Amino acid sequence: MRYIFGPVNSRRFGISLGIDLSPDVKSCNFDCLYCELKSAKPISFIQNPPKVEDIISEVKDALKRFSNIDVITITSNGEPTLYNELESLVDQLNRIKQDKKLLILSNGSTICEKRVQNALKKIDIVKLSLDCATQKCFKKIDRAIKGIEIEVLYQCMEKFSKESSSQLVIEILLVKGINDSEDEIKKINEVLQSIKPNRVDIGTIDRPPAYKVKPVSQDKIDKVAKEFTNLPLSIIYKNRPTKKEDFNKSDIMRLLSRRPQSQFDIENFFSNSSKKILKKLLEEKLVVRKDIAGVLFYAKA
Ligand code: SF4
Repeated sequence: MRYIFGPVNSRRFGISLGIDLSPDVKSCNFDCLYCELKSAKPISFIQNPPKVEDIISEVKDALKRFSNIDVITITSNGEPTLYNELESLVDQLNRIKQDKKLLILSNGSTICEKRVQNALKKIDIVKLSLDCATQKCFKKIDRAIKGIEIEVLYQCMEKFSKESSSQLVIEILLVKGINDSEDEIKKINEVLQSIKPNRVDIGTIDRPPAYKVKPVSQDKIDKVAKEFTNLPLSIIYKNRPTKKEDFNKSDIMRLLSRRPQSQFDIENFFSNSSKKILKKLLEEKLVVRKDIAGVLFYAKA
């Protein structure tokens, strides 16, 4: 198998079979400070792109071998939407995916391109990154190829969110001293409120980065998360906190009216007695459970 990897168990999306559209060399139009790959000059194309039929043949074989896959994930050593045959690949994957969902992990840079939008609209779950809301911060952290304006990108994300039936997940990666200021977080929140994604994933660096940058603390992530109201939020924890709280019925209802809580929030922060109360609230239909792009959320009915 040259283009397929996994299945791997990802907490964010379930059991995933990966497709790598640039297996030989990094092909990305960003050069992010936090990239897990080596730094490289941004480019706007995939080097040595694979043929659609070769990928499809590998996916067919993998689907025969592994039956318990939740998602087929289109990814790359770089940016998968730079792949010119993306729409054709998506069309053919949709024909063979059976009951699996199709997911793409993109940096969001090409969301204004019609070619890309057409392909993304046919994908069940679209994950786009949005690390900053101001051009100054974006230039510093994502170091994109010339000509990409963050303001234009988030306007296209907003349009895509309205027009598409895909589940849209926005991922924010916090880097200490770069995109964690109060002003930047406030602006990102404003932008998120207009984009209205189905889910927001927030985390920090947890693997050796391409440049000398540092992660933010878990406390900082929790503090930032509190700013993002009304949005289903999934916090990506490196080490899960173990402190459990005893919530009563009104605590839980207040918490859920502020924003839905993910299954991980419940596992991490709810004591056994709080979980029992939550279960009762579910039975009384005061609380509902929703699957959002592979993560279960509890929300006020
Ligand atoms: S978009 Fe992804 S692959 Fe590209 S530089 Fe950033 S982290 Fe690396």
